[in-house]
Amino acid sequence: MARPWIGIPELEEQVRAARIAVIAACPEPVQDLFRSAILCESIEEATRRETMAVDAVLALADPSDVGKEERAYCPLCGNGSSAPYARGFAFPEGLTRHLEGRSARRCPVFQEVWRLCIDAVWESGFDPMSGASSLTSAST
Ligand SMILES: [Zn+2]
Repeated sequence: MARPWIGIPELEEQVRAARIAVIAACPEPVQDLFRSAILCESIEEATRRETMAVDAVLALADPSDVGKEERAYCPLCGNGSSAPYARGFAFPEGLTRHLEGRSARRCPVFQEVWRLCIDAVWESGFDPMSGASSLTSAST
């Protein structure tokens, strides 16, 4: 239970600081990409940067042949498939699904980085009714 004297703005700031600390703990090759992603001003830009970040994380993976396929653990969180006896994720498809959230367990590191990104889009004036940020609308 949260202390009753902590307000929502303070909690929001603590969550933001924790998410930024998560980025600082990421492998160096993706830190700058993640830092630039949290400055997104539109959903389109966020989506484009997410794709770039997935590619960058895949490049950090260390796949190894296991039987008939290559498998790799997530370079961000260290997780692998939850299937019994499976080592890592099928590479690159399974690891990509883990990063993009198209599997049962999204990468918790990637998820927090992208929550920061979506927060930035909202703060830039995203209008959920139009489906585009006000900045994007203003430039068209
Ligand atoms: Zn992960």
